[in-house]
Amino acid sequence: MFDLVLIGAGSGGVRCARIAASLGAKVAVVEAGPLGGTCVNIGCVPKKLFSYAAQYGENFEDSAGFGWQGERPEFNWRKLVDAKDTEILRLNGIYQRMLEKAGVTIINGRGVVEGPHKVRVGDHLLETRRIVVATGCKPWVPDVPGRELALVSDDLFTLPELPKRMAIIGGGYIAVEFASIFAGLGVEIELLYRGDLFLRGFDRDLRAGLAEEMRKRGISVRMPFGLERIEKTSTGLVVHAPNGDTVTVDQVLMATGRLPNTAGLNLEAHGVSLSKEGGVLVDDDFLTSVPSIYAIGDVIQREQLTPVALGEGTVLAHNLFGDGGRRMDYADIPTAVFTTPNLSTVGMTEGEARHRRENVVIYRSNFRAMKHTLSGRDERTIMKIVVDGDTNRVIGCHMMGPAAGEIIQGLAVAIRCGATKADFDRTIGIHPTAAEEFVTMRTPVAND
Ligand code: NDP
Repeated sequence: MFDLVLIGAGSGGVRCARIAASLGAKVAVVEAGPLGGTCVNIGCVPKKLFSYAAQYGENFEDSAGFGWQGERPEFNWRKLVDAKDTEILRLNGIYQRMLEKAGVTIINGRGVVEGPHKVRVGDHLLETRRIVVATGCKPWVPDVPGRELALVSDDLFTLPELPKRMAIIGGGYIAVEFASIFAGLGVEIELLYRGDLFLRGFDRDLRAGLAEEMRKRGISVRMPFGLERIEKTSTGLVVHAPNGDTVTVDQVLMATGRLPNTAGLNLEAHGVSLSKEGGVLVDDDFLTSVPSIYAIGDVIQREQLTPVALGEGTVLAHNLFGDGGRRMDYADIPTAVFTTPNLSTVGMTEGEARHRRENVVIYRSNFRAMKHTLSGRDERTIMKIVVDGDTNRVIGCHMMGPAAGEIIQGLAVAIRCGATKADFDRTIGIHPTAAEEFVTMRTPVAND
């Protein structure tokens, strides 16, 4: 009899398993694929490696202004994929050793819930006091004619070769990140988003700034572009919009969202309530409608972000086997979009703040970074601070520019500590950096 059986060895499942075991629980984790889940195998990690690869093209170009001369090296996709595969295998091994060292039993196969205390994996029936569902999400594509001709993000990490032309449908994280990545690697990109401006939910200045930067880099950003159907012709794949517009490419990527991975788990048959999209419904303690079954991570449809799954897994393990009384805090979660340039954000956008607060003060800076005085590149960096005018507290920081994620991470600490604009003003800048702009902006933007 196990104390805990987790289904899914992604970020949330592995963290929860490891902590539970370290607190003395007898734990098993069931996983059909490689250890580490989406983030390690077909998400954050390989995406970031590809993103580094994509930046080199620009860096080679920029280096000329600093005196570097000579032929630009050629890019080899196969080499990048092989190097990425080697790194992912290394990480899979680290996950395995980490779990084994913690005393967690790893069971390879697909887990099916057979009752409140039973999980079947093939011929094995595991008995357990509690079950945690941590099966994540998978790409969802709209039901349009020709959808089977399109790729989803899972396919991108093993593409045999880079296409010459690619259409990317969607305007969320995956669409814009891969538009930047593939454009940086030399693919002609058509980014087709159904709304007026991609990255809904992010600050509008940053979204507009990113669209401009993408266009400068030769990405064809078409907004709005509705999706009617995809057709295979002798010249390639043709994406049709309802208004008759068409785009012809070699590959189409559908980046239209992700839905919970609960099919085949048999959850509803045992009384676990699911959302209409198939997400597992949980309370503040990650408990489902069945008192012995819990769920964490993307599958509960709160925030589809690895650090959030890690946080949820930590809280749950401590509450089940440790001191208890912990709650996951979802306030002010910082996030980054790994486009070129990066975009990162914490707290409220200007739009949100104006909607929710009476008195909002905005500081905005839009400048050309020092590096580009010599590189000659016409790239803007945008920074923005959103302040509650009544309390002087900084309630949002937003940036588009190189290393935005690295910079916003520190500001997220300040925001969580309740820093005011006066605290920002009192902070000495680090010169010369772009980041110092966050502590030197003094003149608010006029309220419109
Ligand atoms: P998102 O939910 O972020 O974006 C989906 C996009 O698809 C939206 O632009 C949406 O448009 C559009 N869309 C939805 N339905 C249709 C349709 N029927 N036709 C055309 N377009 C459609 O999903 P992603 O797949 O990009 O990413 C999933 C999640 O994974 C993210 O939300 C994020 O939480 C996580 N992620 C995080 C990353 C990071 O931290 N850097 C990187 C990658 C993923 P609309 O806006 O109009 O609804």
